[in-house]
Amino acid sequence: MPDRAPQPVDRQLPTDEARDLISLVRDIAQREIAPNAAEEEDAGRFPREVFTLLSDSGLLGLPYDTQFGGGEQPYEVYLQVLEELAAARLTVGLGVSVHTLASYATAAYGTKEQQAEYLPAMLGGGLLGAYCLSEPASGSDAASLRTKAVRESGGDWVITGTKAWITHGGIADFYTVMARTGEDGPRGITAFLVPGDAEGLSAAVPEKKMGLKGSPTAQVHLDGVRVPDARRLGDEGQGFTIALSALESGRLGIAACAIGVAQAALDEAVSYAVERRQFGKPIADFQGLRFMLADMATQIEAGRALYLTAARLRDAGLPFAKQAAMAKLHCTDTAMRVTTDAVQVLGGYGYTADFPAERYMRETKVLQIVEGTNQIQRMVIARHLAGPEGR
Ligand SMILES: Cc1cc2nc3c(=O)[nH]c(=O)nc-3n(C[C@H](O)[C@H](O)[C@H](O)COP(=O)(O)OP(=O)(O)OC[C@H]3O[C@@H](n4cnc5c(N)ncnc54)[C@H](O)[C@@H]3O)c2cc1C
Repeated sequence: MPDRAPQPVDRQLPTDEARDLISLVRDIAQREIAPNAAEEEDAGRFPREVFTLLSDSGLLGLPYDTQFGGGEQPYEVYLQVLEELAAARLTVGLGVSVHTLASYATAAYGTKEQQAEYLPAMLGGGLLGAYCLSEPASGSDAASLRTKAVRESGGDWVITGTKAWITHGGIADFYTVMARTGEDGPRGITAFLVPGDAEGLSAAVPEKKMGLKGSPTAQVHLDGVRVPDARRLGDEGQGFTIALSALESGRLGIAACAIGVAQAALDEAVSYAVERRQFGKPIADFQGLRFMLADMATQIEAGRALYLTAARLRDAGLPFAKQAAMAKLHCTDTAMRVTTDAVQVLGGYGYTADFPAERYMRETKVLQIVEGTNQIQRMVIARHLAGPEGR
């Protein structure tokens, strides 16, 4: 049974180039990604060769400058690419989103020299990135992180601490690491670009997760990792600003991935409902299910419209933080509802691993947690409405 019936989404795309790009991605998704998704997720296998293919096809640096090997695509296009990839397999869509997040500090805050030296390999040279903000004792309260970077007299930085929940931990070629270089709180944090083979960097055994098992998530230990000052990204003390700015865009990636998985679940539910017969007719003929399918489709379109609104604001150079938080919140909650309903449409079969609906439901849960839980998104939105708490 194929993982996803190919039912192309009606997309609004700004250019012929963007339409060609989506066709290319759909082709790769259908040929190279979806057919292996169920088996490899079950086995917990990370498809590194897919990321090599995406890099070779120019799909690992889409929103970044062509000068450094990127695709210079607007976010409205990049996010729809992510949606297609996530519909085929969340490990891939989310992996591309995390790689883009990990490249952000260098692309947006690196010096010209750093960009020229590091970006071409990151954006089109087959490298894979990881973004290291969370720690065992600091998740939502990320500004309380404790990993330390101390400057030695020779000018190098020595980084010590443990990062937690790191997507691609142990397999990444580079790690964008936020570490404390000064006072407590957000102003004492600095960003560093640490190579994956740095001495003193190691990863723990990956976490055993509910879903997304093909995507390794692991603690990353930094035991006296030495990096030159040339690998410091942005100013000393600017790391938290960089981290949050990266997450503002990253949240849109999570929103797009959520809509991709929701769309895959809806496609699955529709194709099952028109085939499965009970009481002498297809279950898709029963109004109880027809209305459920209609609600699923409507919620997906609304989520897609919301993340595209935020993306278009970003593309126009306008503030988009509030809309990005709304998109992350709404799209991931929508995906949770839609994937749960998809299991319901399939009845008992939906609860088995013979169909992908149960995997979509398990995988979606994490999207309500990563890159700021949905409680944190509500805090961000409320701050835009009513100002900071405790004024
Ligand atoms: C599969 C996976 C991949 C991940 N990948 C990465 C990665 O690549 N890089 C990275 O840096 N991190 C990553 N993370 C970490 C992720 O960002 C954190 O799990 C998330 O930010 C929440 O932090 P926490 O788990 O410590 O939960 P906590 O912050 O301890 O929160 C626990 C609960 O309390 C709630 N809560 C906390 N504070 C408040 C508040 N003020 N008001 C209301 N509710 C609150 C939360 O919403 C949550 O429900 C990943 C996590 C997972 C599960």
